[in-house]
Amino acid sequence: MKNLVDQKWLKRPLIISGPCSAETEDQVIETAVRLAKTGKVDIMRAGIWKPRTRPGSFEGIGTKGLPWLQHAKKLTGIPVTVEVATAKQVEDALTFEVDVVWIGARTTVNPFSVQEVADALRGVDIPVLIKNPINPDLELWTGAVERIAKSGTRKIGLIHRGFSSYGNTDYRNAPMWHLAIEMKRRNPGMLFINDPSHICGRRDNLLEVAQKAIDLDFDGLIIESHVDPDKAWSDAKQQITPEKLSEMLSQIVWRRDDIASDEYHAALEKLRQQINHLDDELMQILSTRMKVSEKIGEYKKANSITILQTNRWNSILERAFDKGDKLGLSREFITKYFDAVHMESISHQNRIMND
Ligand code: PEP
Ligand code: MN
Repeated sequence: MKNLVDQKWLKRPLIISGPCSAETEDQVIETAVRLAKTGKVDIMRAGIWKPRTRPGSFEGIGTKGLPWLQHAKKLTGIPVTVEVATAKQVEDALTFEVDVVWIGARTTVNPFSVQEVADALRGVDIPVLIKNPINPDLELWTGAVERIAKSGTRKIGLIHRGFSSYGNTDYRNAPMWHLAIEMKRRNPGMLFINDPSHICGRRDNLLEVAQKAIDLDFDGLIIESHVDPDKAWSDAKQQITPEKLSEMLSQIVWRRDDIASDEYHAALEKLRQQINHLDDELMQILSTRMKVSEKIGEYKKANSITILQTNRWNSILERAFDKGDKLGLSREFITKYFDAVHMESISHQNRIMND
């Protein structure tokens, strides 16, 4: 097998696929063979120890599944990755020549567990992929990266798998793309993978999320695949067959992050200058707006009137929705934008009124 660190680590796009869980030897081997046939998979994943939210569901086959993965690798030449959450799991994974380990979302939230894994990895230096924590907290995610880095691990990658939220949403785990973008900004050059399977929780929108990730310059995808998805012992709803995976990967429009063309760079530079100019103007206007708002604050102060006037706020929003519709600005954006402007305005008035 090729040296993963030198050969595959920087391959773009990096495609990781395989079952949510290793279930039986036959399932692991058949998945591996069918994935290999696609010629599109760089690393095979399989959960051996499954941290389930509720007890009672399948909690993973355990260490006895590791030789199956070893066998699958020998057969196909595809390196393998498993999730680890304890020192013992790291040791077992290493004993059976697992090539890459990943830290799951339920582990990233717990500094004790991450530290235990980090300590077990000391002196090993195999690639480690770190999923975002289940809650939208970039500090926890960053803390996990720092703990693993301090163990001497040089190949670290991030996996964006979305964030839990209460109640129904379109997603199993809301992508909150802005957090992924911010994490990427904070870690330039770090491998960044998207996990459409755990974001979607179902099959029908996997392609849409995968495409979005590629458009946002992710380096690769981790997508669960199973030889018989409906019968999977975990995450049945979101898994697809290796053949379906192959079809999906060929439907994605792959983008590059740059190109050696003077014409392209010149055109982009011009447009970016326009954007910078418009952003400057917008900030000027916002600053003027806040000054007007401060004046209103002075009147409110002199007359002992509350800062928040719900009717006025409603009418601002209604007006903005109408105008936004005509200008091609989505209601979602208008709401977020006016919320931010309104909160800033309130804090300016607060300063004036309580001085
Ligand atoms: C998984 O990859 O099967 C898994 C358990 O994912 P997560 O940690 O993102 O929930
Ligand atoms: Mn899963």
